[in-house]
Amino acid sequence: MTMMKKITVLLALSLSFICSAKEPIKSETKLSWKAIEVSDGLYMLMGVGGFTGGNLGLSVGDDGVVLIDDAMPSTLDIMNKALADITAKDIDFLINTHVHGDHTGNNKTLGDKGVHIVGHKNLRRHLLVKGVTNAKGKQIDAPKSSLPMITFSESIDFHLNGLDAHVFHLPHAHTDGDSAIHFTNANVIHMGDTFFNKMFPYIDFNSGGSLDGYIEAQKTVLGLVDDETKIIPGHGPLANKADLEASIAMLEDARSMVAALIEEGKTEKEIVNLNPLEAKYKDLHWSFITIQKMTKQIYRGLTTVEM
Ligand SMILES: [Zn+2]
Repeated sequence: MTMMKKITVLLALSLSFICSAKEPIKSETKLSWKAIEVSDGLYMLMGVGGFTGGNLGLSVGDDGVVLIDDAMPSTLDIMNKALADITAKDIDFLINTHVHGDHTGNNKTLGDKGVHIVGHKNLRRHLLVKGVTNAKGKQIDAPKSSLPMITFSESIDFHLNGLDAHVFHLPHAHTDGDSAIHFTNANVIHMGDTFFNKMFPYIDFNSGGSLDGYIEAQKTVLGLVDDETKIIPGHGPLANKADLEASIAMLEDARSMVAALIEEGKTEKEIVNLNPLEAKYKDLHWSFITIQKMTKQIYRGLTTVEM
């Protein structure tokens, strides 16, 4: 199995079912988390050496430790190591940006330790309705300790470690339970999977995501940032305003190219075969969202109402 295929398998496992906690196939590569301090005591942690799960956020200071997202069971050990390199303190709060298993995979482990889990109310609902996949691949009810004990509809604010963190809902974007975390006085924002930087995004239509909601979410965040803002995407490298603008421009361009072909009466298959994104955006493809899959996502977003 090639490395790309392994990464694809890991990713497919983690994204294939919402809130899946399935233990992905162990990779032989040396995976690790690399920490970047984006502001005093505030970090982005991103996977190195392969797919480790979504990018993490971490605030460490006198008032406690706040973690944003918690990756997958298979990368728990290296996540703990990366966290221990930054702080010896226990985690006080975990904020889940959305329900997918590569962002909530260690909820039970952390919840059992007494970490207070926070997330949008739809995220909790998805966990309750759909359950999780356990380490043996069996579908089970979500353990109580894996569920957010604190939920919100619109927004919730944290005032810890000298940071003001505004956690707010972005409706019908990547899912229907997405949140971004805006550290207003640090000028940092974690967007979860409402932003894949320098790669095609995944829109989970089956969990309430939508194409127009996705674009709208990015525009909402664009209205909050300036040239100095550090943007933590759900996947991909640390980003800035220009990266977010490029993502919006790509999505709107792709949307209008596919819409024009639909207008001409072309079928989904014909549009995929015409490959309208190839000329400008082929470099954004990756193992899970190929250019064909991205084209299909745009088509689906334009032809169905997913609410
Ligand atoms: Zn996701």
